Amino acid sequence: MGLRIHYGGTFDPVHLGHLAIARAARDQLQVAVRLLPAADPPHRAAPGADAGQRAHMLALAIGDEPGLLLDLRELERSTRQPGVPSYTVDTLRELRTELGPHQPLAWLVGADSLLGLTGWHDWEALFGLAHFIVADRPGSPLEQALPPALEAALAGRWADHERALLGAPAGRVLRLQTPLREESASAVRARIAAGEDWRSLLPPAVADYIADRGLYGARRV
Ligand code: ATP
Repeated sequence: MGLRIHYGGTFDPVHLGHLAIARAARDQLQVAVRLLPAADPPHRAAPGADAGQRAHMLALAIGDEPGLLLDLRELERSTRQPGVPSYTVDTLRELRTELGPHQPLAWLVGADSLLGLTGWHDWEALFGLAHFIVADRPGSPLEQALPPALEAALAGRWADHERALLGAPAGRVLRLQTPLREESASAVRARIAAGEDWRSLLPPAVADYIADRGLYGARRV
C-alpha cells in the first residue's frame, strides 16, 4: 500500500517556499502531495485572506502541475460544523478512518512547526496516526537541543531513508532533502504593507490574484 502525503497550512498566502517543499516531498517520495488549507478560526474574522480566497490561491499555485493536489476537507468540515475549531489531529483521524489502519500516511511540516508540535491539540496522539516529513527552515535548527518533551517524543522515530515510511502506517519522522527556503507568508504580508517587492516570493498567478483583489492591503492594479 503506497504512502499518502498531506501538507497542511494556513497558506495566507501560499508562497514559493511552500511549493518548493511540496515538490521536494513529491519528488523524493515519488508520490502525490495533497495541499490542505486550514479553515478560518471560529469567531474571528480572517485577518488577511479568508479560507475561500486562500484555497483559491492554492488552486492557482498548483495549476495543473502533476503530483500536487488540493484537499479541501478542513474547509468542508468547518461548513458542516460551524464554530468548531479544526485541529490537525481531527484531520488525521478522519484520514485514518478513510485509509484504514495499515496505509502509511504522512503529514508534511516545516521545522518551525515540528519544533512547536507539543503545543498542538492532543499532540501525543499524532504519532499514532501519521508519519511526519520535516523540511528544514531558516531559524528553526533541528540539530540543537530540542525541548525535552519533544526530544523524548521523537526518540527512536527518525527515519534514515524514505523506505522506512513504508514499513509502518505511522510514527516515523523523515527529514526532507531540500535546500533551505527563506520565504514566509508573514514576510509576504509585511512586504506588501511596507510597499516593498513581494511578487518575487509568489507564483505569478497568486501575485496577480492578490493585486486584483487588493488582498493584504496590496494596491489594486
Ligand atoms: P507565517 O509566516 O504566517 O508563519 P508560513 O510561511 O509558515 O506562515 P504556513 O501556511 O503557516 O506558512 O505554513 C504551512 C507549513 O509550511 C508549515 O508547516 C510551515 O512550517 C511550512 N513552511 C512554510 N514556509 C516554509 C519554508 N520557507 N521552509 C520550510 N517550511 C515552510
